[in-house]
Formats: sequence, C-alpha cells, structure tokens
Amino acid sequence: MARVILRNVLKNYKKGVLKDTLRNINLDIQDGEFIVFVGPSGCGKSTLLRMVAGLEDITEGDLEINDVRMNDVPPVDRGVGMVFQSYALYPHLNVRQNMEFGLKLKKFKKDVIDKRVNDAAAKLGLEVLMDRKPKALSGGQRQRVAIGRSIVQQPNVFLFDEPLSNLDAALRVKMRIEIAKLHKELNSTIIYVTHDQVEAMTLADRIVVLSPLKDNAESNLEQFGSPLELYHNPKNKFVAGFIGSPKMNFLKGQLVEIGEGKCKVKLNTGDVITACVDASKAAIGDKVELGIRPEHLVSVQHSHATSRLSGTVQVAEHLGAESYVYMDVDGEDFTVKTTAEIPVEPGDQLEVGIPAEACYLFDQNEQAFPRTTKYVRN
Ligand code: ADP
Ligand code: MG
Repeated sequence: MARVILRNVLKNYKKGVLKDTLRNINLDIQDGEFIVFVGPSGCGKSTLLRMVAGLEDITEGDLEINDVRMNDVPPVDRGVGMVFQSYALYPHLNVRQNMEFGLKLKKFKKDVIDKRVNDAAAKLGLEVLMDRKPKALSGGQRQRVAIGRSIVQQPNVFLFDEPLSNLDAALRVKMRIEIAKLHKELNSTIIYVTHDQVEAMTLADRIVVLSPLKDNAESNLEQFGSPLELYHNPKNKFVAGFIGSPKMNFLKGQLVEIGEGKCKVKLNTGDVITACVDASKAAIGDKVELGIRPEHLVSVQHSHATSRLSGTVQVAEHLGAESYVYMDVDGEDFTVKTTAEIPVEPGDQLEVGIPAEACYLFDQNEQAFPRTTKYVRN
C-alpha cells in the first residue's frame, strides 16, 4: 500500500547537451489508485516510470513513497515491482522457478515462497503451467508469469510499462480485463504506462496525459484527472485530441456572438455554429477552434441538432453495430460515428446536426474555454 508523490520533477538525460525530457511534473497519487501515464511515443512516459522505479536518476525535484524521500534509495529498497513490455523471463527456468527467483535471492523461507507463488499462480490461472519453460508459453501466458513474478514480491507499488503491447488485439482486451480484476483484488497502487488511450480510459482511476516537451513550455504534464473528466473537460486541444476514439474533429473559425453560457462561431466554411461554452473572457472577432466528437454528431432532424454542417463523404465503414463516415469539410478531415446505418457512399454530400451542448472550443493558444453543459446522448 502506498502513496506516491512527485514534486517539480525534471529529467534531463545530459544537461548542457540534450534538451529536457520532462519538466515540472507534479503528481499526488493516492494509496490504491490505478494511475495511467498516457501520451504519444517519445513523450517521456517510460522515463517517468523508471524514475519512480529507481532505474533512472531524477535530475531535479522529489519523489516520495509513503512520506519517505526516495530519490537516492536503490530500486530494491523502494518497495516497487516492475513489469516490462518484454516480460524479461529467464528462458532456462520454468514458470515456478521464474516466480520464485526474486524471493530466493532475498532468502525467504521455503514455506513462505511456496505459499506466495501458489497464491499468485491461482490468481493468474497459472497452476497447470508451473513446470513449463517460457518458450512453451503463449504471449499472454508469459505476460501472466511476469505479473506473477512481481505479485509474489508484494510490492507497495506496481509499475507496468506497456505490458500488453506485444499481444494481439483480442488477447490485449482479455489481459486488460484481468489486470483490472487484479487491481480490485490486490487493492494496490498501480502506475501503468501505455500509448493506447482506450487502455488508459478503461483501466485508470486517474490518467496523466503527457506531451512531447516543447522548448519554452512550463511543463509537459497536460492534465491529470479521471477518464471522464478528461473526456468532458479537456484543458486544451492536445488532451481533447488525444482522449477519445475516433479523434475529436477540429474546425477553425471566429467568435461572432458571445452570450450568457453560450456563443456563436462562424467557421471558415461559412457555417455558424452555436456552442454551450463560456467565451466571456474573449472578444468578438477572436480566432478560435471548434471541437466536436465524432460520436456526438446527430442527424439534422434530431431534437439536439442546434446547428448543421455538410461535407463530402470520402469513406464509409459499416461495422454492423456502428458506422464511421470520413468526410471532407472544406479541406479538413471530419469523422462521423453513428450507431444508425446511414446509407452513404463516397462522393455523397452529407449534412450532420451539431448539438450546442456537445461543442468544445479552444482559443488561439489551444486552451479550452469552460463548457457550460455536459452533453448526454439520447
Ligand atoms: P516514451 O516511453 O513516452 O515513449 P521515453 O521515456 O522512452 O518515451 O523517452 C522520452 C525521451 O527521452 C525520448 O526523446 C528518448 O529519445 C529520450 N531518452 C530515453 N532514454 C534515453 C537515454 N538513456 N539517453 C538519452 N535520451 C533518452
Ligand atoms: Mg516507453
């Protein structure tokens, strides 16, 4: 059980030669929370996790686990267990021996080792595989052994670095659900790295969104919040575009009317869209960007269709349960996701309704204006 705090953490791999990788990272992770670090490849997710593990120096700032400063504490004494993407199992040892290995090194008594290994094997459904070598296991089974090897150590904090990215899509979903169950059972603090926003949304109590650090940026921690907080109230365009699948649509325009809790935006297409957004800090004529999620677009007859927009269909994908229509709206890509089967073909003109409550709006610095309603689909 552990609370993990990062204070003003900065990472530079080689000061004076390389640019900073992470800057001003402040996190207060509560005991038992499932935290996911998400962000595009190269933004520093693994670096941050490895700094918590003690595998990487912290250039500036503090790391505390259960109120103890850990910056200079060696990895083995931090009470953390790490599971890597590559599993890192010993090929010449069988499953039981792989799981026992760390405990034997620490000179635990045989009965303690047996109990811990057997308990972990039962939790992970590994009992019938205990005598097999890693090469005789499937990817999912190997991943389970790697997790088991970490569980037997009873760490205060589990650290996972993209543990599912070597698995095929179906197995990834299955293991994702197992990891969620495991968290419920163990009640331990978990920090989990992924570049997959669906994994982040489904597993996390709270998500840390990181971006590649820009030269003059104060920090590359974009937002820290619950999955639905990030979905409904992203702080900026980066988070809005990163969370949600398919990605949010963005269209440029300018403010033409600012009212109480709502405003009107004239898009570069000429369409005027009403948005339930508080733009009182802005001025008429300001350049803005409207955001609308593919799943929030409705038919023009829908009672929520406050405004409308049309485009040329480029590709239509019908998956049975839902359809995706990829359109061109005035030279911009625009995606519609719908559970209705819309009979459209490439080249068709499609007009869609835009609920004012579903709109997001960003200023010229890509910061979000406050939304004044939370859109509920019906
Ligand atoms: P992510 O896990 O988000 O894909 P990483 O934490 O692996 O990103 O890397 C973040 C940045 O730090 C990258 O630009 C990477 O090239 C750089 N980096 C990672 N490890 C080292 C290292 N040992 N020395 C120098 N730069 C590194
Ligand atoms: Mg990584």
